This record gives sequence, structure tokens and C-alpha cells, in this order.
Amino acid sequence: MSECARWAVRANEIIKKIDIVDYISRFVKLHATSGKYLRGNCPFNVKCPENSFTVSPEKPIFYCFGCHIGGDLISFVCKYNKFSPMDSLQLLEAIDMNKEPYHKELLNEQLEDELQIINTTINELIMDSIDVLETTKSTIDILQGIQSRVATLYANVHKANNPDEQ
Ligand SMILES: [Zn+2]
Repeated sequence: MSECARWAVRANEIIKKIDIVDYISRFVKLHATSGKYLRGNCPFNVKCPENSFTVSPEKPIFYCFGCHIGGDLISFVCKYNKFSPMDSLQLLEAIDMNKEPYHKELLNEQLEDELQIINTTINELIMDSIDVLETTKSTIDILQGIQSRVATLYANVHKANNPDEQ
């Protein structure tokens, strides 16, 4: 395998392993939108309009609609730290090796409790909404969508926290 091919394999691997939203959130305050993007203020150019910086977790890339700087996770590290692509890759690999497993942080008892509270509250809200004539069907649909996602997440977290339970 050539030097270039080896580099590409390593780059692809790290892009898959490190969550772009998780990483960029360390430096840019991102907030969710109704679309598939998260938005925040551009970290590269103070003159960019507010919230012109976007991150797509699906693709996974970033793009600024103000200064048109965009790319993948490695490009972000290059631009943000003014590193070479190789140094950026090495930095990301070092972070990946040292980090605590994701699930240890996320799948804790507090999250489980919070999810149960949210789940119960949404359930009660759906029950209340069904009785109110003015409530549109779409509102109930949205609530049921959120509820089923929370319920699934809660079930997964509960299962992970209680491996002995059947
Ligand atoms: Zn910008």
C-alpha cells in the first residue's frame, strides 16, 4: 500500500470513530435546528454572520455560509489549529486513543432517570392532548414520535445499566 493510500485509510478510520459534532462542540457552541444541521458562530472569521457555521452529523462535514470554509473533521483541525493534514490526523488519533469510552459517560444512572421522567411526562402529555379537541393531530404525531425515541433510548440505557436483569 502506498503512503497516500495508508494515509487515506487512517483518515477515513478516524472520521468514522470521532463524532464531528462532539469534537467541534468543544470549540464552537452548537445548537440544533429543525433541519439536519447544527448551527453556531463561525470559529474562523469574526465577520461571518451569526450562526452561519453549520455541522452535519450525517455527512459528516462542516460548512460556513459566510466565509465558505468547509470540509471533514480533519479539515476542521487543519483550519482551526493551523496544522498540516498529517499533524491534524495525529492529533485526532491521540484523542481517540486517550478518550474514555463514550458509553461510560452516557449510559449512567442519571441519564436513565432523566429519560424515565421525560418518557413519563411525554406520555401524560399525549394522554391529555388526545382529550383536547383543539389539539391538532400533527402535534400528537410529533409527541408520539419523540416519545417512542425516548422510550427506545431509555430501554437501551436501562438494559446497559442492568446487564444482569432479564
Ligand atoms: Zn465563516
